[in-house]
Amino acid sequence: MQIPDKFHDECGVVAIFSHPEAEKLKLAYLGLHALQHRGQESAGIVSSDGLVSRVHKAMGSVADIFTEDVLSKLHGTLAIGHTRYSTAGDSALLNAQPILVQSNKGAIAVAHNGNLVNATAIRARLESQGSIFQTNSDTEVLVHLIALSKEHTLPEAMADALRRVEGAFSLVMMSNDRIFAARDPRGFRPLGKISAVDGHKHDAFVFASETCAFDLIGAEYIRDVKPGELIIVGPEGVSSRFYSTAAPQSSCIFEHVYFSRPDSLVFGRSVQTSREELGRQLAREAGVDADLVVPVPDSGVTAGVGYAAESGIPFRFALIRNHYVGRTFIEPSQSVRDFGVKLKLNPVRSLLEGKRIVLIDDSIVRGTTSRKIVRMVRSAGATEVHMRISCPPTISPCYYGVDTPSRKQLIAANKSVDEIREYIGADSLAYLSLEGLKKACGEGEKISYCSACYTGKYPTDIVDIEEIQPATARR
Ligand code: AMP
Repeated sequence: MQIPDKFHDECGVVAIFSHPEAEKLKLAYLGLHALQHRGQESAGIVSSDGLVSRVHKAMGSVADIFTEDVLSKLHGTLAIGHTRYSTAGDSALLNAQPILVQSNKGAIAVAHNGNLVNATAIRARLESQGSIFQTNSDTEVLVHLIALSKEHTLPEAMADALRRVEGAFSLVMMSNDRIFAARDPRGFRPLGKISAVDGHKHDAFVFASETCAFDLIGAEYIRDVKPGELIIVGPEGVSSRFYSTAAPQSSCIFEHVYFSRPDSLVFGRSVQTSREELGRQLAREAGVDADLVVPVPDSGVTAGVGYAAESGIPFRFALIRNHYVGRTFIEPSQSVRDFGVKLKLNPVRSLLEGKRIVLIDDSIVRGTTSRKIVRMVRSAGATEVHMRISCPPTISPCYYGVDTPSRKQLIAANKSVDEIREYIGADSLAYLSLEGLKKACGEGEKISYCSACYTGKYPTDIVDIEEIQPATARR
């Protein structure tokens, strides 16, 4: 079995509990469709008619996996679903979610967005006691802890298990007749709750990573699942309990920088508002004399709009993205990744020729993309290329559910801003300050963020997986 060299978990989750109309389960499919950007390599749905749970999961996009034929077999009144970006290779389907097991507490299905930072230690302990694991996934640890719990009811066993894991988890879980939604005590990843689908009061209860999934379903957003909260929806109605007291909030700021869709509310705040403000703040901090603001699509578009509005420099789509390129091409090798940029983006020569360009993107990770794009813009006739990044330099890997490479591969962990400028071949390069980032994302009384990828200061105890463990021991 191939073991991934690091956690790769960028995921979206959805859960639905509805009245007995098979059609309603298609809402789970539609919800996943709206969360496709959170993970494009595998997807799955577990559905139940109240008595028996069935799973369907596969590699590929939601639309490819859930054909009319597959959907017609998804009978039942409740479901949970998951989209995942994982590693390529044989091990990926094995790790696709939701995980569905039969246990001493009945059927348990789990779909997880985030990463458990103490999963390796728990797994080693359980394996030494004879537990047998089927996947490489940290999420499976949680399923074992629920099954092994001495508590007698499933909600109590879940609460017990949730108290034993550390890190980031927005979870939707299911038994044959109930759904459960829980968030870690720090609220790292988003998870919202809705009801009243199609305007029918309490017609259905839905949970999803982002509110854009609710919009597609035509449902009303009620509130976020609170940090430390476990919500249970079953035949008897809805109940909520806190399995843990909330810890200081550390919601992921990268959700606002890049990961979530601008049409979503995330942590109760509009991503569009944050992202446009990131661009405005960037223009205030790092203005430059230029002719055109050009975003790197799609990730730089909204910040680009903000930068142009604040600076007064005209905004143009001078890089065109081919939206029909699948992620199949994005293999871990550097040469393929370089090729991938050309497949995805093409410059509009008539706009760029003879112009001084401000290029806006959300982040530089390895530097490969920016280097290619700067070259592309120059070869299309731009006279100057000024790169502006709508967050601070990414210097530390994320252990809470965003796919980042090791510190060795993070260009900003190894080079100064000027060295990066030289590497990508730009005339100038500037990043947004940490203070500017937090301000733009509304840090303050109502929300406080984890920005460990920019500071190296992790809000939980962290075993630095990269530095003290051999790659083959990681899960
Ligand atoms: P790189 O070539 O490694 O510097 O990648 C930079 C590009 O990857 C930027 O255009 C970002 O929008 C995008 N990006 C940043 N973070 C991530 C991530 N965690 N997963 C996928 N893409 C990302």
